Amino acid sequence: MINSILASSVSIMPKWFIKLFSKSYIAGHEPKEVINIVKNLNAQGFSTTIDILGEHIKSQEKTYSITKEYTQLYSDIAKNSVDSNISVKPTHIGLDISMGLALENFKKLIEKASENCNFLRIDMESSKNTDSTFEIYKDLFKTYPKVGVVLQAYLKRSIADIEMLAGPGFNARICKGIYKEDKNIAYQNPEDINKNFLEIAKIMLAKNSYVCYATHDLQLIDDIISLTKNMDADPSKFEFQVLYGVPMKGKLKNLLKSGYKVRVYVPYGPDWYEYSLRRLKENPNIAGYVIKNLFAKK
Ligand SMILES: Cc1cc2nc3c(=O)[nH]c(=O)nc-3n(C[C@H](O)[C@H](O)[C@H](O)COP(=O)(O)OP(=O)(O)OC[C@H]3O[C@@H](n4cnc5c(N)ncnc54)[C@H](O)[C@@H]3O)c2cc1C
Repeated sequence: MINSILASSVSIMPKWFIKLFSKSYIAGHEPKEVINIVKNLNAQGFSTTIDILGEHIKSQEKTYSITKEYTQLYSDIAKNSVDSNISVKPTHIGLDISMGLALENFKKLIEKASENCNFLRIDMESSKNTDSTFEIYKDLFKTYPKVGVVLQAYLKRSIADIEMLAGPGFNARICKGIYKEDKNIAYQNPEDINKNFLEIAKIMLAKNSYVCYATHDLQLIDDIISLTKNMDADPSKFEFQVLYGVPMKGKLKNLLKSGYKVRVYVPYGPDWYEYSLRRLKENPNIAGYVIKNLFAKK
């Protein structure tokens, strides 16, 4: 209830407040700033994935310039010898305009990733884009194997999707899902979502795929560890992923100490304001986290 009130009033929240929120979650505005943060995370033992903030771009020219910025990032990663790959939202590089444009831009990224022997993650957006995103993935995977997609545990269709996609060489991030989806297609109850998360993980492990567990849910992380142990999964075939800046109560250091791989998703870019507003409006729970974290830090 409080979260909903907060979320519905984000449009009138002062910019300084949104900036306060975004500061701990966003790694600056320039590539130089994000590379420095990545170096620091690498020094602490974390791998990273970099995302340029933005989505739903409606101008073809703009999608070309964003694609160029992403290709430059692959060069910066190589030049600085940092441990990072890249995560890209399809509507950031053209999917809202046409499938053809999105594919054209993704193919430029694949070419650059391949030149640098790096990996490309295609983020998953709302359910309107699920089918097109899998199509893009399948097309790219035919020419370059170091590409991966995302499965959202709140979507009821995800089990069927994973049954179809999983196999050796398949790499997916599993997350709960951030968008507001209808109850006909998405589980709303946290227990159902977590159950589905573990079920997807089980299928991927059984089919020898590479699994990325993206969650801050401490109990779910423990359940994942139990599952991997029960299934005798090789720790080199999975990793944990978290968003930059989310407090984890020492869990990440413990995961590293236990020998698990942990990757931090690091977003940056000048579009921090619009991004933060959209996130706050889309998911009222985030408003709650923000307030909780702001006070927790004091
Ligand atoms: C690496 C990564 C990549 C992702 N990629 C996608 C994607 O491609 N598509 C997509 O739909 N979603 C994506 N997500 C978001 C994901 O779907 C969830 O919405 C989000 O992670 C919150 O779910 P949770 O698993 O952390 O569990 P929750 O039960 O929501 O949260 C567990 C606890 O973590 C804390 N927490 C969670 N999120 C935050 C936050 N943002 N700020 C502060 N505290 C927080 C809260 O204290 C909460 O109690 C990604 C998440 C991660 C970690």
